[in-house]
Amino acid sequence: MAEQVCDSLWRASAPAGPELTPLSGEKEVDVAIVGGGFTGLSAALHLAKFGRSVAVIEAQEIGFGGSGRNVGLANAGLWLEPDQLDQELGKAAGKVLYDALAVAPDLVYQLIETYGIECEPTRKGTLHAGVGASGLAQLQRRFDQLSARGAPVQLLNKEEAQARIGSATFNSALFDPRAGTIQPLAYARGLAHAAIKEGAQLFDFSPVIAIESQSEGGWLVKTAQGVVRAQQVIQATNAYSAFAAEKETRKFVPIFYSQLASKPLNEQQLAAVLPNKEGMWDTCTVMSSARMDQRGRLVFGGMGNVGGALASWATQRVADLWPALGKVEWEFKWTGHIAYSEDHIPHCQQLQQGLYSIAGYSGRGIGPGTVVGKELAELITGQREQLSIPTTLLRDIPFRELKRMFYEVGAHTYHLGQQTGTLR
Ligand SMILES: Cc1cc2nc3c(=O)[nH]c(=O)nc-3n(C[C@H](O)[C@H](O)[C@H](O)COP(=O)(O)OP(=O)(O)OC[C@H]3O[C@@H](n4cnc5c(N)ncnc54)[C@H](O)[C@@H]3O)c2cc1C
Repeated sequence: MAEQVCDSLWRASAPAGPELTPLSGEKEVDVAIVGGGFTGLSAALHLAKFGRSVAVIEAQEIGFGGSGRNVGLANAGLWLEPDQLDQELGKAAGKVLYDALAVAPDLVYQLIETYGIECEPTRKGTLHAGVGASGLAQLQRRFDQLSARGAPVQLLNKEEAQARIGSATFNSALFDPRAGTIQPLAYARGLAHAAIKEGAQLFDFSPVIAIESQSEGGWLVKTAQGVVRAQQVIQATNAYSAFAAEKETRKFVPIFYSQLASKPLNEQQLAAVLPNKEGMWDTCTVMSSARMDQRGRLVFGGMGNVGGALASWATQRVADLWPALGKVEWEFKWTGHIAYSEDHIPHCQQLQQGLYSIAGYSGRGIGPGTVVGKELAELITGQREQLSIPTTLLRDIPFRELKRMFYEVGAHTYHLGQQTGTLR
């Protein structure tokens, strides 16, 4: 996917990552990892901690992909409702995955603490905000299913939701105290520092151009200037897979999600929007999200490409949601690609013996990516027999390109409709 380094708030405010060099010459390690996002970095950190030699090879800079562009909502679980997970995977496997990801934020915040990662961590919970009768019904369903599994979630009524969000638009909200917000690129860079501290080697600006099996066993991972020999390879490129050999694993729909960050708000404005600083997203089909950063900027996002009508839609939408803010000035705008798999579940595709490809986070990858990376390290070092995510191939998505265009045009039309008042 040809995408430029983005001019995001996260890039402007993250502490520096480790100084790296491109891969050159020949190296030999136990495990080579393609992709320096949460999945690859968590795998590298844990593999190195468990005594394996490991090399991460990143095409651009660390956190170039979704890991450096996302909203930063460190949530528990996946997008799917827990009952849907059981329907997709069967009850036993659904429970295994649910249980593993219910505690995903714990792992994220533990790593942040253990390695002193400066990434603006807050753990004040997140709010899934209900819009309309269908939104309320969805939240009630989620609340029932999550409560039945022991999750400490609360379903807030209209008054409570409006007070917590600061907006009269919402009729309910599902509060999840297990979750929080992070500065995502700072977290990715912090994981990179931590992986190096544990002994991993990291290389940036080194696009992998081929992964070839060797007749004597193991793999050759090739870039233009270097080669890594490894017994096992983890391809952790999710929506950003960028070379021909990966095409067969790209069974997901890449969907744009864009964000805008305001100038820091004044005290009066800060009291008007998300006063407790939870992150939030809504139940609308064309979803939007909002959160604050450490300096008091409002970070507002929506599905679609920021180059289109999204920026003016965001201005209008924010004015509708929080009239007390007045006209908000945007200082940063950026976009990223989400990898929607057919079942909305990430898969670890074992393409051949010792070659794993992980993709399909479907917009929920901070906790899941961190957990999957750790579980892969445990699998490879013999500390676990199975991963919590399915190890089956991603299912084909019929008319993938048409679907991508459908989402893009749909989001665009929706934003235009809201802006002109026909869809408010
Ligand atoms: C806009 C947006 C908002 C999101 N919001 C949230 C959120 O609030 N909460 C949440 O939990 N999740 C969110 N997500 C999802 C989450 O960001 C991703 O699921 C997660 O970052 C995936 O991590 P990853 O390590 O698997 O892949 P990535 O972070 O995408 O990393 C893949 C890396 O592989 C590299 N690469 C690709 N090809 C090659 C190659 N040939 N050679 C070497 N390297 C290569 C890329 O450059 C990239 O850096 C969001 C995603 C987006 C895009």
